Amino acid sequence: MNDYPALSMIIAGEAVAGGGRRTHAVVNPANGEVIGHLPLADPADLDRALDAAARGFLRWRTSTAAERAAVLEGAARLLLERQDMIARNAVLEQGKTLPEARLEVMMVVNLFRFYAGECQRIYGRALVRPAGQRSTVTHAPVGPVAAFAPWNFPIGNPGRKLGAPIAAGCSVILKSAEETPASALAVLQALLDAGLPGDVAQAVFGVPDEVSRHLLASPVIRKLSFTGSTVVGKHLARLATDNMLRTTMELGGHGPVLVFADADLDRVLDTVVAQKLRNAGQVCVSPTRFLVQDSVFERFATGFAKRAGAFRVGPGLDPDTQMGPMANPRRPEAMERLIGDATAAGARVLTGGHRVGNRGYFFAPTVLAEVPTGAVIMNEEPFGPVAIVNPMHDEAAMIAEANRLPYGLAAFAWTEDARRQRRLAAELEAGMIGLNTAMIAGADAPFGGVKWSGHGAEDGPEGLHACLVTRTVHEG
Ligand code: NAD
Repeated sequence: MNDYPALSMIIAGEAVAGGGRRTHAVVNPANGEVIGHLPLADPADLDRALDAAARGFLRWRTSTAAERAAVLEGAARLLLERQDMIARNAVLEQGKTLPEARLEVMMVVNLFRFYAGECQRIYGRALVRPAGQRSTVTHAPVGPVAAFAPWNFPIGNPGRKLGAPIAAGCSVILKSAEETPASALAVLQALLDAGLPGDVAQAVFGVPDEVSRHLLASPVIRKLSFTGSTVVGKHLARLATDNMLRTTMELGGHGPVLVFADADLDRVLDTVVAQKLRNAGQVCVSPTRFLVQDSVFERFATGFAKRAGAFRVGPGLDPDTQMGPMANPRRPEAMERLIGDATAAGARVLTGGHRVGNRGYFFAPTVLAEVPTGAVIMNEEPFGPVAIVNPMHDEAAMIAEANRLPYGLAAFAWTEDARRQRRLAAELEAGMIGLNTAMIAGADAPFGGVKWSGHGAEDGPEGLHACLVTRTVHEG
């Protein structure tokens, strides 16, 4: 039974669909069947969204913090009430397992609750000057935000794109991925149902390059927020430059994991295999290059392959499934290309390396060992369930390999040596570092990268401040 919802855009609080607009067919990645038809914006739709965002900003920038907090708290409550329905639709359009989708709803609930509190702590400061003069520093909302969210976290990404601007007093036009629209619409609907004025947040869909060019060229938009690949991020950053927009860029990564001989190997394996296969590896902070000290390499590689090979792959709604299909046909094609290239270069396949079944976009958990540095997968984000395990000898070489790539999103290390932990924390070039843990995100902690992985952060006070500008008034 397909009880996937009817799809629309939401502009100025109204559902917008039909009217001869182009459509995008939404596909269930577990079986390749079309489950919905998404209307795509034409230029007039985008202009209406821009007009609404301009009006919405004038209204929302003077809202009280208590008003914004009430909307975010209310939306969090509604998301919790609707958790099962939202998670199920996310599985239908994206493929991940139901528990993963339910967790994603919780991630947004936690973020909205955090921002409901944090928006009440946007303080300024007064500078005392001689002879009764003073200067006052305040933080004001930056203005209407154009936000682009990808398909890998269809609930969580829109939650991030909407939560911080709304908490800051901005309006938002969200273009979430056309492949996973129902999840984004559900997050926006919860905010609207909790009392957010319709002009403050819109959801549009379209041909991505048409939408981004149109919105970023408009004088209405004051900030670009993007999550996606580095290639697209650089393109959008160039467009944003013409209007000198503020930017938050959450781009690709190629997570190194340094495993030292003194680590508790079974605990490491129990953690990192599940971490690698979460969301079928389609995670920007996914661990990718496992750099393992040679004295424990064989044990680590064998243990990894054994655990990954035993992972149950299947439809995300099946309660036995541990890993769902990949989200779209481009991903298994990319896995085949990257694995073929790596094996031609001399890598060994310890497990997997192939598609699963002949329906949908399933791919087997894969472990590649001793992959040469020149192989494409050592340099390009795989964004899939493929782990690279390579032996290395000493700490300096492991750090050099971790920092070799232009990416700097997440890095991980496993060692019981406290001095080494401090060295790694200082030396690894990454926005987020996990020492003896895979948990590197939380509503109260900044999430973002360095180098080609982008700039700015989401979540935490930093994510809120990224939607504010600082102004100083000097009084004589
Ligand atoms: P892609 O690079 O074309 O698209 C990535 C995302 O950007 C999609 O959500 C897409 O809708 C959006 N996008 C593309 N062109 C755009 C434009 N001109 N304006 C606005 N948005 C645009 O291709 P893809 O096949 O969807 O993904 C490929 C790669 O993207 C993956 O291999 C991965 O490296 C990266 N990716 C990263 C994340 C992340 O969380 N950082 C999420 C999804 C994809």
